[in-house]
Formats: sequence, C-alpha cells, structure tokens
Amino acid sequence: MTTFVLATHNAHKVVELRRILGDLLGPHELIAYDGPEPIEDGDTFEANALIKARAAHAHTGLPALADDSGISVDALGGAPGIHSARYALLSGAAERRDDGDNLALLLTNLEGVDDRAAQFVCAAALVDTDGEYVVRGEWPGSVLTAAAGEGGFGYDPIFLPDGETRSAAQLSPAEKDAASHRARAFIALTTELRRRYG
Ligand code: IMP
Repeated sequence: MTTFVLATHNAHKVVELRRILGDLLGPHELIAYDGPEPIEDGDTFEANALIKARAAHAHTGLPALADDSGISVDALGGAPGIHSARYALLSGAAERRDDGDNLALLLTNLEGVDDRAAQFVCAAALVDTDGEYVVRGEWPGSVLTAAAGEGGFGYDPIFLPDGETRSAAQLSPAEKDAASHRARAFIALTTELRRRYG
C-alpha cells in the first residue's frame, strides 16, 4: 500500500477528488497536504499543477498528486483560465478570493455576448521519485446568463455542460463525476498510477 499526498488546500476539490479517486486508488491511501503553498506562477494549467505537486513531494517525500483547474471562455480568449480562482480579485472587482464575485464578474463580462462556449479544464499531476507526469481533462459546455442550482462550487451554477439542460450545480455529485474535467483528468492519471504502483 502506498500513501499519496494530495496537494490542494481547496476543500471542495478534496471532496471531489476523494470521491473520484476512492475506487480507482484501490488499496492505496490519500492524505491532504498541509505544508507551505508554492507560488503558482506557471502560464498553463499543466505548469501550475506540476508546481503544486512538486512542492508537496519535496515537503513530504511522498508521491504527490495535484490539480489545477478553471474555466476558459472562448469569447474572452480563454479567460479567466488559469486565473479563475482570483478573477475578480485580479480585475480589482473584489478585495479577496470569492467564488460569488468571480461568477458575477464573468456574467457581467459576457453581457450581450452571443457566443457563450466555454470549457472547464483540469490538469492532474503526479510527482514522485520516478519523475513527473501531467494530463489534462476538459468538460465542454457554455456559460448561462444567470446562476442556477445550489450544488458544486465555483462557476458550477453558471456552467451548462454540452448535452445537458441543467447547470453543473444542479447535477448530483455522481452525475458531475461521470463527466467533469476533474474526473476525466484523474481517471487518465490513474493509468500512470497503476503502472507505477499497481
Ligand atoms: P485552483 O485552485 O487554482 O486550481 O483554482 C480553480 C478555480 O477554478 C476554482 O476556484 C473555481 O473557481 C474554478 N473551478 C475549478 N474547477 C471547478 C469546478 O469543478 N466547478 C466550478 N468551478 C471550478
């Protein structure tokens, strides 16, 4: 049995990843990383996921998993993208990180815009003594004109997955896990985990 450390301080992501990885990890164990947070100054989701996983591996000596994720809106040239968590803060529209402010700013920036196509993106990284591995998962959809639903977190209430009539916040946890960017990335990462750890 191997203990993996999960490099995220976002409680919502820990809940989702425990759900997603629960069955996939088999006998292995997952603990949350609570050491120093690195500066996420990468230019891509993949680079930032690797920065987080490297820091957790260096601090604990354990094989480390990390996720970097966000929403990319076509009409905004991919924004907020890697800046999703701090979208309103960086624009000066808020004084601290806040999911509600981020979602409100995105709706404002898309007022009157017809092309609402967007993707949730997740890069999942593994860093251990064998080296670094990173893979991307995407969940295509569009941005609604108003928030709907109470579930999920972040931009879920304004994200309409392709082929759905409900927002991501109106899906059950199991329905979100069956399609989400995070599930797609971590299911793909599991292939590499199995190769390294059985
Ligand atoms: P990170 O912790 O730097 O990866 O920030 C990711 C940000 O992207 C979060 O704060 C959310 O705002 C957004 N995000 C990522 N995944 C999801 C999701 O599954 N649903 C809704 N928002 C998400």
